[in-house]
Amino acid sequence: MRLVLLGAPGSGKGTQSQRLVEHFGIPQISTGDLLRAAVKAGTPLGIAAKAIMDAGKLVDDRTMLGIIRERLAQPDVANGFILDGFPRTLAQADGLHKLLTELHKPLSAVVQLEVDYDLLFKRISGRRSCQDCGRVFNIHTAPPSSPPPCDGRCTAPNLVQRVDDSEATVSKRLQVYEDQTRPLVDYYLQRGLLRTIDGDGDPQAVTQRLSSALEG
Ligand code: AMP
Repeated sequence: MRLVLLGAPGSGKGTQSQRLVEHFGIPQISTGDLLRAAVKAGTPLGIAAKAIMDAGKLVDDRTMLGIIRERLAQPDVANGFILDGFPRTLAQADGLHKLLTELHKPLSAVVQLEVDYDLLFKRISGRRSCQDCGRVFNIHTAPPSSPPPCDGRCTAPNLVQRVDDSEATVSKRLQVYEDQTRPLVDYYLQRGLLRTIDGDGDPQAVTQRLSSALEG
C-alpha cells in the first residue's frame, strides 16, 4: 500500500496515518515531523526551514523532494508507506510521480480528508503536544486525562503548542493550503487515484470511512 493522505492542516492526516501504520504495518512519512526533527537537531536544513515553518509558509519544492527521495530510499518502505503532508504543491506531486516511476512503485491511492474551515481552525488552534513523548492532544476535542498527562506515558506535564499552530499563523496556513495544495485534488482526480472522505467525527469513525475508501 503506497498512500498519500491529502487534507488541510488539522484535517486529521497525522492521526489517521498513525492508525494506518498499526493496521498495515507500513511507515508514516510526515514531512512536517521530518522538518521539526531537523529544526530540533539544529541541522542546516532545520535552521533554514524554521523561519519558513514558523511563518506558516512552505519550504521550497527542491528541498522537499530531496527529503522525500532520501526517505524513500530507506529499507522500511519496502512494503509501502503513508505520505502525510507531502506532496503540497503541483511541482511536488510531479516530482513524486517521477521518483516513484523510477522506483517502479506507483501510488496505490490518494485519500482526501475533507473538513470544514471552522472545525479545522478549532482543531489546529487547540492542538498541544507533549514535549517529552510527542503525543498529540487537543484541548477542545481530545484533552489529556488529568493527572497524569500523556495518559501515564510521561511523568511530568509538558504540553506545548507548536509555534505555527498559534491563531495568527493558522489562517495563513489554511490560505496556503487553498492556494497551493488544493489544486492537487484535481491533479489526482484526473489520474484516477483520488478518493474523498468526510474527516469530521471521532477518529475511529474516520478510520472506518478511510478503510472503506481503500477497499472500494
Ligand atoms: P505539517 O506538520 O505537515 O503541518 O507541516 C508543518 C510545516 O512544515 C508546514 O507548514 C511547512 O512550513 C512545512 N512543510 C511540511 N511539509 C511540507 C511540504 N511537503 N512542502 C513544503 N513545506 C512543508
